[in-house]
Amino acid sequence: MSRLPTADPQKQVKAAPNSGAVLLRPHHVLCAIGWTGRGYSPAFSANMDAVVVGRLRADPETPVEFTGTADSVCAPCPHRRGLGCASGEKIADLDRNHAQALDIQPGDKMSWAEAQARAKRLRPDDLDRICARCQWLEYGMCKDALRRLRQE
Ligand code: SF4
Repeated sequence: MSRLPTADPQKQVKAAPNSGAVLLRPHHVLCAIGWTGRGYSPAFSANMDAVVVGRLRADPETPVEFTGTADSVCAPCPHRRGLGCASGEKIADLDRNHAQALDIQPGDKMSWAEAQARAKRLRPDDLDRICARCQWLEYGMCKDALRRLRQE
């Protein structure tokens, strides 16, 4: 497997335009923790860098608000269809699994630090179940990132 690009926390990243809470669907907590710079399109990756590196990683006290529909990460995604997703059923399963694992409901608000603390309770191998059918799972970066987070 070729080496995956790594999101450099030092690099200059444009802050996301909304300076309020970062809107997240439940499964994007683990996706943000595992983000290494590889996305669905250049626009998707630039936005992911702005949200994840520019806001969440830059300040763990960043407020996040959970939603059951398209969020701050989905905005420029080529698979987004309005507030929905072209991969609707798969995404609904991911959200359901992650919401249960992290004890999150749409409408919940918390700091990014709290969301990370909840993710820390999971074991990397839990992703085999809660992330089943995600195309990125096989690359291993999300499990590696969770492993590192649990060691902090
Ligand atoms: S495997 Fe997929 S759904 Fe799971 S954390 Fe990684 S990118 Fe997100």
